[in-house]
Amino acid sequence: QFESVGFIGLGNMGSRMANNLIKNGYKVAVHDIGVELSENGNMYVLRGDGMPQIDVETLLNCNVMKMFSDMGVSTKETPFEVAEASDVVITMLPSSSHVLDVYTGPNGVLRCANLMRPQLLIDSSTIDPRTSRTVSVAVSNCILKEKKDHWEKPVMLDAPVSGGVLAAEAGTLTFMVWFLIFLRIPFHFLFLSWFHKFSLELVGFKAARLETRDPILGERQKIFFIQVGGSEDAYLAAKPLFLSMGKNAIYCGGAGTGSAAKICNNLAMAVSMLGVSEAFALGQSLGISAGTLTKVLNTSSARCWSSDSYNPVPGVMEGVPASRNYAGGFASKLMAKDLNLAATSVEEAGLQCPLTYQAHEIYTELCKDGHEIEDFSCVFRHYYSGKDE
Ligand code: NAD
Repeated sequence: QFESVGFIGLGNMGSRMANNLIKNGYKVAVHDIGVELSENGNMYVLRGDGMPQIDVETLLNCNVMKMFSDMGVSTKETPFEVAEASDVVITMLPSSSHVLDVYTGPNGVLRCANLMRPQLLIDSSTIDPRTSRTVSVAVSNCILKEKKDHWEKPVMLDAPVSGGVLAAEAGTLTFMVWFLIFLRIPFHFLFLSWFHKFSLELVGFKAARLETRDPILGERQKIFFIQVGGSEDAYLAAKPLFLSMGKNAIYCGGAGTGSAAKICNNLAMAVSMLGVSEAFALGQSLGISAGTLTKVLNTSSARCWSSDSYNPVPGVMEGVPASRNYAGGFASKLMAKDLNLAATSVEEAGLQCPLTYQAHEIYTELCKDGHEIEDFSCVFRHYYSGKDE
């Protein structure tokens, strides 16, 4: 039922999600903090996630707001302007502080708390459950400018996503170039619309087949799995939006439970990856080959995603990061960030969870040692294979 969607945070994940909404016919307005001129005047700084300085040429090539405006998408200067133009606002930001800033900052989504436009606000960032609940309370203190069919007050959902950014689009384009070279077809043929369409269809087919081999991407171009916290009513109303962006959505309970589910999943995933890596290190040193041990684990009680779909030992499985020098996949720095959220929540809950702290420490060290952009399964090579570079 929602027609206009505002999207804030057009990074690796957000730009793809916004793009999927556009493809599914939603009227989308976007905002990203993007870039600002730094002090020396000839360098720009990409703000947001502590990104390094980059030169102007690189910047012009990666200005995501320009990219969307070139596509004919409405771009807005502030989160508040996005909110004014939208029935639903979705945010996809690096961390809790960015989320608080975008919602409650001076030009934030909730600037006009006494009369605001969007009925539904969805935060898909991976943040701590406490911040999700804080923002949800701030939203429920607002009043709607125009009450439509749904709610008396605006409602908030925390809806973090799982699934990485191994760019399906990039894969598609790469294949398209090879396809044309292989058939020795001159590139100007692309301008003939029938051929363009035909080649894209074939390319799409091939790309979809390539994706099925990737355990993170899953079977289709929509790579996200979404876990949702907030009111069930709002979840049901938002479901078509979720299914435009992602493969599946699961309702988890009240405010903050989507964020909680996300960090619990990643905590369990990290610990199982560490356990499997240690088992392979020990097995190999006791004379069992990694291939044989994989067969054993995968037919025994230790079987898990890290052993049967995302094996960390190079050469055991095709198409996983371990078999391409740990490139792509889920970056160790993101795992360290999520484990930090888990550790903070464990502390707040007053629980004893020693593995949470240890896993966090291991991934923090891994990042300090320069492996922050490598896939998190690189922990096997770093600690256990004795072959770290
Ligand atoms: P990213 O750093 O690529 O993108 C974040 C975007 O937010 C940037 O474009 C940045 O400019 C923008 N931004 C920052 N502050 C802003 C502000 N105040 N106003 C407007 N825009 C602002 O991050 P990402 O990889 O897209 O991840 C986003 C979230 O999704 C994170 O919480 C991450 O943990 C989570 N996540 C990432 C992955 C992944 O594989 N990248 C997978 C699952 C979940």
